[in-house]
Amino acid sequence: MRTPCIAANWKLQKTVAEVEAFIDAFLPLVKDNTTVEIVLAPVFTALHAAGKKLAGSNVGLSSQDVYHEEKGAFTGEVSPSLLMDVGCKYAIVGHSERREYFNETDEFLNKKAKAIQAAGMTVIFCCGEPLSVRESGKTNDLLAGQLDGGLKGLDTNKLILAYEPIWAIGTGVTASPEQAQETHKFIRSHIEKILGADAAASMRIQYGGSVKPGNVKELMACEDVDGALVGGASLEAESFAQIVNFGG
Ligand code: PEP
Repeated sequence: MRTPCIAANWKLQKTVAEVEAFIDAFLPLVKDNTTVEIVLAPVFTALHAAGKKLAGSNVGLSSQDVYHEEKGAFTGEVSPSLLMDVGCKYAIVGHSERREYFNETDEFLNKKAKAIQAAGMTVIFCCGEPLSVRESGKTNDLLAGQLDGGLKGLDTNKLILAYEPIWAIGTGVTASPEQAQETHKFIRSHIEKILGADAAASMRIQYGGSVKPGNVKELMACEDVDGALVGGASLEAESFAQIVNFGG
């Protein structure tokens, strides 16, 4: 039985005061939810304040990115242990926006993921295809390459995957439950091939791409969908609470 994990990715949005106000409104709405692992990923500047507010609650804290080195002359970067220091238990890596705008490769993401795990945190590793690849029927090949390169040598107990078709991110176009299930099933079968049957059976695979209160239930009903990574619809406390409380 895989516990679904639903995470909010706020990207480059929300001041410290806005993050605090969100958490104040959100925690009472989800405090009785014992069936979903709930995670918030604010911007770096709000992590410390968010970590304080979330301490002792049923909601975990994640960064949206990290650097793989622990210390040294890396101006502007933040290490895994500094994220732990402000209360993070998770770090997202490989979001398609990082891959596209910052040219992050699977090899580089693998270094980050290893560093996150070495510090004791859980990696949320994103993968997904652009529309052109889906239309050319090469989605599985692309995903296999991302997983082969990105997951090499990782501890599967501290790993969550997020399948995010790029054509569904922020577009309002959601993958149908059939499309999501078909691709998640492929991902699980590929995990079995590269990381073994136990890892495949226990691995949570989130779906991301225009998840909203109105479509979360049908997506979560898919056999191989174990949660969600949510952008736009996670920005309001009410809306994100409806998503994480999809089970009623
Ligand atoms: C995301 O950016 O990870 C995402 C899934 O965004 P949205 O929910 O807005 O499509």
